Amino acid sequence: MKIYNVLIYFVIALIFSLLILIYILLRNIQLRTRAEKELRMKNEELTAIYEENIASDEELKENIHELIQKQEELGRSGDRYRIVAESTMDIIWEGDLINKKRFFSEKVYDILGYKSWELEDLDLWFTIIHPEDLEWVKEGIKHQVDEKIALKTFEYRVKCKTGNYKWLLSNTKCEFDENGRGTAVFGAFTDISELKEQQQKINNLAYYDSVTGLPNRVRLREVVSDEIENCAEINSKFALIFMDLDNFKYINDSYGHMTGDKLLLETGKRLVRILNENMTAFKLGGDEFIILIKASPLKEEVEVYSKALLESLASPISIDGDMFHVTHSSGIVFYPENGLSFDELLKNADTAMYKSKESGKNTYTFYHRVMGNLAMEKIKMQANLEIALENKEFLLYYQPIIDVALGKITGFEALIRWIHPKNGFIFPDRFIGAAEESGIIIQIGKWVIISACKYAKSIYDSGFRNFYISVNVSALQIMQKDFTDFVLSTIEDIGLPAELILIEITESVLVESMDLVIAKLNILKDNNIKIALDDFGCGYSSLTYMRMLPINTIKIDKSFIDDIKSEDDVKSLTGNIILLAKQLGLNVIGEGVETQEQLDYLKRHGCDMFQGYLVSKPVPAVEIDNLLKREMAS
Ligand code: C2E
Ligand code: CA
Ligand code: CA
Repeated sequence: MKIYNVLIYFVIALIFSLLILIYILLRNIQLRTRAEKELRMKNEELTAIYEENIASDEELKENIHELIQKQEELGRSGDRYRIVAESTMDIIWEGDLINKKRFFSEKVYDILGYKSWELEDLDLWFTIIHPEDLEWVKEGIKHQVDEKIALKTFEYRVKCKTGNYKWLLSNTKCEFDENGRGTAVFGAFTDISELKEQQQKINNLAYYDSVTGLPNRVRLREVVSDEIENCAEINSKFALIFMDLDNFKYINDSYGHMTGDKLLLETGKRLVRILNENMTAFKLGGDEFIILIKASPLKEEVEVYSKALLESLASPISIDGDMFHVTHSSGIVFYPENGLSFDELLKNADTAMYKSKESGKNTYTFYHRVMGNLAMEKIKMQANLEIALENKEFLLYYQPIIDVALGKITGFEALIRWIHPKNGFIFPDRFIGAAEESGIIIQIGKWVIISACKYAKSIYDSGFRNFYISVNVSALQIMQKDFTDFVLSTIEDIGLPAELILIEITESVLVESMDLVIAKLNILKDNNIKIALDDFGCGYSSLTYMRMLPINTIKIDKSFIDDIKSEDDVKSLTGNIILLAKQLGLNVIGEGVETQEQLDYLKRHGCDMFQGYLVSKPVPAVEIDNLLKREMAS
């Protein structure tokens, strides 16, 4: 009878253990399925790693299927208990709370590399938990015990015998007696390292820019939104610096995306170098970066950082043997003064950034309310420019260029004007920048070249010979692959002698790709087209360019002419510039000559030509025709 009772107890105990085991296994399956479902949902968001995940999903399904099969085999015998423990993918364990011991299934060796007895002491497990996870895992266990929670899951890292860490999903079951004391504890560990790795990859794709590795716009939105909440609570402030690289488009267009990407990567690295613990750099689309500055920065501090950012990009970046000078324009906003939401802050920072672009680039601007509609205006302006081109609203004015010694007209500079049907006469300074930014300058520029060449041909045909027409060309135009072909075929089609055309370039064309520009200008020069460096003296390395470029002429910027106040002003640089240019065999044109005094100075210093209000403002073609008739008659 006694033996019979013992047998019954034994069978009951066995059945009970098996039931618990089945429960844990089913619970694991449930968690695995949930993890699998989550993963699949994320996969849909990110098709790029879709296939990879499908593969692992299938693997996971296979494992689960295997597990279910094993369970089905589960019978009443004790042997089967061991079989299940050994054949599941998980580590099954049991804690002996009285003797402070822990027993693991054989899988602990396969997954972590330890023999069960190496971790026998109950507390040894805690010595292999990742230091960053240890505290909250302990807290979690305490919470489970204190609150008498039967089953609890954790995800944390555990050190393998090899020293590497693995992510485990821990499923712990506690049993309590009627006094609330823990009587038994057991559970299972599932190796979820692969799953975690994939999640990390998904995170990286979703939150980080693939070129620079910096957090992206999605992440920025999250971080800034959190910061807004935080600052609203503790009455604090933060700043955003919105940076946009100047003329990056040219580099991408002329050197290709590979070079563009390398440049962005290097730019990102340089930015990161100047950050402190309160600053984070983000990469938005295209060539935009954002710096977040936390902890209530003062305006003066942000100004210092902005200057440091400009400086960090000041030295040229070398990529595959080419040197690139990258500058940027930025706009600065403060929370809460300049906006209460992420979208508002970003929009206003963008507006301030545009202001920097407008004021000549390579600078920073603090946002101010009056700028509000500026961005909108710009978009409208760009749309209007397309309409203007279609409706032929552009017109060329011409300003005579005079030979200083002879006092006779030697050329004309073509200067564009926009006659808007509603807004009337618009000067180029108001729209060339926007046209360059939207790229429509390429079409406008082609129109200018064709129109100026046609006009030159008409003057030539009227019998006036010793002159040239000067045309302003934007950097973006020169960067176009077909630029030289276009110029050469235009003059050929029109039948204009090439020496009657002068192309005016500014130093901005050289900032991106010196070699390419030089090659193109050489083709033009070889075809007898003249080239002038416009606005000479404004840039920072004019002398270097003057020597390297295949130019015939420099045009001294108006600001230098303005400096000529009196005859014996020895401080004026203009005389030295003329001297230097002459030594290099270049022609010199003085621009914006308004007084006789200035003209006399130029004459004395051997300047070849000049243009300015002293003789004539830019005027419509008909007035030039009249002027020429008079000149030919005299
Ligand atoms: P820029 O090439 O430096 O042209 C000279 C500017 O100085 C012209 O302004 C001209 O009207 C002005 N100017 C000439 N003499 C005097 C003077 O004695 N006093 C004063 N105060 N100003 C004088 P404008 O026509 O408004 O053109 C401004 C700028 O717009 C040009 O500067 C040029 O960079 C650009 N631009 C004009 N036409 C074109 C074009 O067809 N294509 C491109 N890409 N840019 C153009
Ligand atoms: Ca010019
Ligand atoms: Ca000029």
